[in-house]
Amino acid sequence: MPDITGSCLCGQVQYSIRPPYMAFQNCFCSRCRKTSGSAHGSNIILPPDQFTWLTGENEVGRFEIPEAQHFATCFCKRCGSSLPWLTQRGTTVVVPAGTLDTLPDATPTQNIFWDSHAAWYRLPDQLETYPTVPGKSQPTEIKRGKD
Ligand SMILES: [Zn+2]
Ligand SMILES: [Zn+2]
Repeated sequence: MPDITGSCLCGQVQYSIRPPYMAFQNCFCSRCRKTSGSAHGSNIILPPDQFTWLTGENEVGRFEIPEAQHFATCFCKRCGSSLPWLTQRGTTVVVPAGTLDTLPDATPTQNIFWDSHAAWYRLPDQLETYPTVPGKSQPTEIKRGKD
């Protein structure tokens, strides 16, 4: 099976991961909203021995929330992209799936911390959806996943 790899926006940090995963989930907690800058994190959780930095590990910054038992965040010091982080107890690695460059061979199975979701959030199929941008393309229907 080919390596499943990811990288930051500038490309200086690269990593690889190996299934099976402990979880793949969208997290709507306020911490994930802050670190992702978006409505939710989409995170793959796996054991540390299934994660490897390939390049640029020295360019990875880390911030730990003092009062948190698990939560931390890692990021590229050059471009600021979120990157995989080891939990403060060192038991699992949290991989922001948006940084993957290859398919992870899995999809999210659950939304967590929904009680903390931003009030402005709308589910994707509640919004007009364009292949690129309005004006350059016509709205398209969101195709449901295989079911
Ligand atoms: Zn970078
Ligand atoms: Zn979260």
